[in-house]
Amino acid sequence: MPGPSMSSQPALDTANKNLRDGVNRCAKCGSTEVRLRPGSGRLVCLYCRFEWDEERVEEAFGLGQGIQDLRGTVVASGAKDIAAGTDEVLTLKCGGCGAEVVIDTGHRLNARCHWCRHVLSVNDQLPNGAVPDAVLPFQLTHAQAVEKIRAFAAGRRLFAHARFKAEFVPENVVGVYMPYMVVDGSASAELRGQGEVQTARYTRGNDKEKQTYYDADVYQVGRKLDFTVDDLALESSAERARFDPRANTNNIINTILPFDTKNAVRWNASYLAGFTSEKRDQDVAALQPALEQQLLSIARAQVRPSIARYDRGVRWEQEKLDVHGTRWVSMVLPVWLYSYYHVEGGRGMVHYIAVNARTGETMGSIPIARGKLLLAALTVGTILESIAIAILMASS
Ligand SMILES: [Zn+2]
Ligand SMILES: [Zn+2]
Repeated sequence: MPGPSMSSQPALDTANKNLRDGVNRCAKCGSTEVRLRPGSGRLVCLYCRFEWDEERVEEAFGLGQGIQDLRGTVVASGAKDIAAGTDEVLTLKCGGCGAEVVIDTGHRLNARCHWCRHVLSVNDQLPNGAVPDAVLPFQLTHAQAVEKIRAFAAGRRLFAHARFKAEFVPENVVGVYMPYMVVDGSASAELRGQGEVQTARYTRGNDKEKQTYYDADVYQVGRKLDFTVDDLALESSAERARFDPRANTNNIINTILPFDTKNAVRWNASYLAGFTSEKRDQDVAALQPALEQQLLSIARAQVRPSIARYDRGVRWEQEKLDVHGTRWVSMVLPVWLYSYYHVEGGRGMVHYIAVNARTGETMGSIPIARGKLLLAALTVGTILESIAIAILMASS
């Protein structure tokens, strides 16, 4: 049981000690041709067809337990602070032939030795944030993702440019592992404000100028609650986490939450062979404000049933959050991504359609024709709402 600690020292060592940097061999035949078997979420040896899974981190590190009793900040070893100035480019010595092979860990954690064809993998937890504590393997196949994207675009044909359909290239649908921090927490919140109950409603004036009035009783309302969150997912790449739909459509990833993070498994770089990955660039401290914001919105949502009698609503004027303890685990989550470059009014923009490679949830920012700006605004509202729903689902 991890004791109280406010430091960022790793309290949970998640390094996969069975694996080393370099050749990742099949336990049955020794081949390095190990991959994720499409559609299964399992690893398979391409030579002898032996299949296996890494252990779920939930059980391996007791992540489902003791959330209520969390105190201080518990940080798993793959989520520890990124050392400043650490190189993203790693040179591995090939275990097959001794050649030196360079891997750009910002995008990839496997490479093939160009001399002996062995597949080399990065498994050690580097100080640059590239190797997380856990990985949630791709479940949807490439073909299934292409179908989801086609269906999504077809269902919104009215808003999309005809060119989009004409230029859709399934080969450009790529699998990317996105970096997230997955947080458990124990907190208390105190909300204070004013609630109104309507007592009468009437209209005054003539037909030309009619005004509606109401009478209401005003109450001081206060709520206090203790609550826990289990597996709250926070984006840990600064660029992806920026939330401004007008400037940036990358945040589309947040709209395909939640992921079944309970099924994430211990790190093995072979899960990433054939996919690209993005490196985490945010530390625990940098994500604290985002966490606190989400905890407050969970608190507001949890007290909502208890304020139903204030039929004209409650305006919270003071909100106090007390975080007793948190536990941070870094993960990469699987996303099929289709990007589409589109020029409108002389300005080039990249739009995305993203598919959750576990649930099939699909969302996109399809280029919108001029004259449909009002619809665009409505779409943004829907996205914001779906984020709130994702948060609630993560907390239940
Ligand atoms: Zn094998
Ligand atoms: Zn080699």
